Amino acid sequence: MLRLSELKLPLDHPEDALLEAVLKRLRIPPNDVFEQRMVKRSIDARRRDQIQLIYSVDVRVRGEAALLRRLGKTSRVRQAPDTTYRPVAQAPRTLLDGDDAHRPVVVGAGPCGYFAALLLAQMGFRPLLLERGEPVKQRTLQTFAFWRGETVIDPESNAQFGEGGAGTFSDGKLYSQVSDPEHYGRKVLEELVASGANADILTLQRPHIGTFKLATVVRGLRARIEALGGEVRFGSRVERLRLAAIGGEKSHQLVGLDLANGDAIPCRHLVLAPGHSARDCFAMLEQVGVQIEAKMFSVGVRIEHPQPLIDAARWGPSAGHPRLGPAEYKLVHHATNGRCVYSFCMCPGGFVVGATSELGRVVTNGMSQHSRNERNANSGLVVQLEPEDLAPYERYAGDPLAGVALQRDLEHRAYLLGGSSYAAPAQRLEDFLANQPSESLGSIAASYQPGVQPSDLNALLPPPMIAALREALPAFARRVRGYDHPDAVLTGVETRTSSPVRIPRDAALESVNVRGLFPAGEGAGYAGGILSAGIDGIRAAEALALQMVANA
Ligand SMILES: Cc1cc2nc3c(=O)[nH]c(=O)nc-3n(C[C@H](O)[C@H](O)[C@H](O)COP(=O)(O)OP(=O)(O)OC[C@H]3O[C@@H](n4cnc5c(N)ncnc54)[C@H](O)[C@@H]3O)c2cc1C
Repeated sequence: MLRLSELKLPLDHPEDALLEAVLKRLRIPPNDVFEQRMVKRSIDARRRDQIQLIYSVDVRVRGEAALLRRLGKTSRVRQAPDTTYRPVAQAPRTLLDGDDAHRPVVVGAGPCGYFAALLLAQMGFRPLLLERGEPVKQRTLQTFAFWRGETVIDPESNAQFGEGGAGTFSDGKLYSQVSDPEHYGRKVLEELVASGANADILTLQRPHIGTFKLATVVRGLRARIEALGGEVRFGSRVERLRLAAIGGEKSHQLVGLDLANGDAIPCRHLVLAPGHSARDCFAMLEQVGVQIEAKMFSVGVRIEHPQPLIDAARWGPSAGHPRLGPAEYKLVHHATNGRCVYSFCMCPGGFVVGATSELGRVVTNGMSQHSRNERNANSGLVVQLEPEDLAPYERYAGDPLAGVALQRDLEHRAYLLGGSSYAAPAQRLEDFLANQPSESLGSIAASYQPGVQPSDLNALLPPPMIAALREALPAFARRVRGYDHPDAVLTGVETRTSSPVRIPRDAALESVNVRGLFPAGEGAGYAGGILSAGIDGIRAAEALALQMVANA
């Protein structure tokens, strides 16, 4: 199989143009092509009047070796890479026949935990997965009732916690910038398709699944784990890790888990994937002596524009073309005060949603359905924290939980500004720039559920961040025309951009001081999205499996 990359075609190309481009690139007749498969499609919109589609294609053709020799060394035609996933280990029979005490445990049914559990199950380890929240069906009812303003949130099952993890009610974007030489990202995408996602996620450069589809996909993942002998328990919050002191390189060995429901589970091998919002879990880890450290993250607000405004700015006269879909953007601005401002988790044609996991706090985030056909585009507009921002929140120098204290403070302030009803404080962009409260919103309706309260966001964030945001908005408008629309809606506060902590691990992906503990995913500080969390789950499962096999 050969891989041809960078085949450029105009937006309106006929269906057979791709084959013609392949024949032209390889300089062969049509009869020499036995098979052709598109593997990637991306959009080049640098020239809005001449948008191009860029394809990578795998082809099986006559005389591949000779053809490669004839074409010479070029990265645009090469041997197609082998992306087949091969498991690193197989559970020894003794483990399979043994009692449940030998089962590896996974904490967290987010993408990291589900992929760790799936891989362990595929390697024959019969994992036990513990999730504090509810199965996705129940969780959806609870979370949507909160968004409709019918209930307050359930701190155990909400937009952050429950089956599928933080990404279940999301846009379901599936791209990442992590280095992935082993092609684990491909494995994640293939497993998602096998669990119910549309097959186009395998080929689009910037694929996404969408909220309702994601719910189906996580149910599919669970069914596949269970079919392979794994077990998934909901309503099972891990309250404490039990550690035994040991001599040698590491100071402790993991020996068990205590659950909030009173269960005690023997456990010597654990993938801990609790996500970035598991604040009680981070506090517990510090208390029992697991090494954990503060990590920088970003905070800010969410911004909404009409989707047609973004489409026109990005696609120009081609806006609305069926091959393009709703436009996205990714923006970065380095402010003169040294702060970095960037767009985060942009959701075309979506909603802003309440993403708190704690009572008395307001957190914004975004989601879209697969169709992305809501009227507004939304995105986080966030500023990177600096160590001096955490200093006022430290209980002692180097406090690993200072970032959690900062998040809680900002989220509670947003709750109060919003009127203590879980409404989010909102402001027109023009008012934000003029440093005056909004009395009402303008022509752009806020989509945040469960509702907004016109307010003054300048009171919400520390002054250097406000200054950086004020500078970034006009700068972004130079890249996306209309970005500084006076009625663009800002809502706050966006605090759950990534984990406020890191749980350090060694080269074997094990905690640096606790044997048997494999911290993974976003909460541990090793992922920043659905795809990278899934990839890290695979890596953690492999590391755990290799250790179990070595110890068997
Ligand atoms: C509204 C929203 C939209 C998003 N949109 C996107 C997007 O479009 N694309 C993208 O790539 N990313 C998106 N993200 C981020 C993405 O969801 C996360 O990066 C990803 O889910 C992290 O995966 P994870 O498995 O590491 O952690 P999580 O998904 O957070 O999963 C952790 C799980 O652990 C459970 N848990 C926590 N503590 C315990 C405990 N003590 N005992 C038992 N269980 C516990 C939690 O209930 C949770 O289910 C979005 C997030 C949100 C909130």
